[in-house]
Amino acid sequence: MKCIYHPGYQVALPPSHPFPISKYPLLRDLLLAEGVLTPADLLEPEPLERNVLELVHTAAYLDKLEASLLSPPEQRRLGLPWSESLWLRSRLASGGTLLAARIALACGLSGNLAGGTHHAFADHGEGFCVLNDVAIAIAKLRAEGAIERALIIDLDVHQGNGTAAIFDGVPEVFTFSMHGERNYPVTKMRSSLDVPLSDGAGDAEYLGLLDRHLPDVLARSRADVAFYLAGVDVAAGDRYGKLALTEDGIRARDRRVIEAVRRHRMPLAIVLAGGYAPTRTRTAELHAHVFREAVAYELAQQP
Ligand SMILES: [Zn+2]
Repeated sequence: MKCIYHPGYQVALPPSHPFPISKYPLLRDLLLAEGVLTPADLLEPEPLERNVLELVHTAAYLDKLEASLLSPPEQRRLGLPWSESLWLRSRLASGGTLLAARIALACGLSGNLAGGTHHAFADHGEGFCVLNDVAIAIAKLRAEGAIERALIIDLDVHQGNGTAAIFDGVPEVFTFSMHGERNYPVTKMRSSLDVPLSDGAGDAEYLGLLDRHLPDVLARSRADVAFYLAGVDVAAGDRYGKLALTEDGIRARDRRVIEAVRRHRMPLAIVLAGGYAPTRTRTAELHAHVFREAVAYELAQQP
């Protein structure tokens, strides 16, 4: 399976910062060490140019980012200290999601070893999300005429509020979010389908709800491409998650999504979204499951 990675996905953050930025190279190293991916499977993205970002984000917001003019309150809302390398990283990761979608359209399945920054709105960033990579990829592919309709399956534990707001009133893009009802963001936006989860939800409750809704979501979306935000902050013990999925539960979730989407013959682009396990290595280990499952699915399809 061809996947997208760039060394620039990792940028310097203060040592005490809660965002596990080193999970990106750790995940790449893990997938290569296990043989899930080979070096030849990894492609490097280009940073997206302003004219592509403008398909989703406002000129005023992009002006601020380009000129490093985010105010201290705006940086606090973003949750990341601003830097030139963070700006490049945000455009690289968005380029990675667009490239993964292009490969998915050509080959069926691909992934970006980053992305899923679903809290980014058209006019501001928040919750560690600068640019909304999935929204940008969909807008670009629609503008080119490569796709008409898209589906976003957002299983990060936090609601994809930026994504929901960006595609509110766009019937060609179906936004599906399963998330902790009492978790961030406090004010939820309206997705095409929101499935709230109670604190402490475990494998049975979670997978039961996914099984109940996923077939209907796939049918209703009539999408030309699907994006899967495979956030692992649903795991028991996650710093921000408040849910209680086991590792087996996460792996079962990932397998269900991949199988269901591909059985519908929809191209699928996988992106990481969040994960805040007790260690960065553990976070990378949990993120690896969706790629293990995707490669296993592809192998099982070969004659
Ligand atoms: Zn999250």
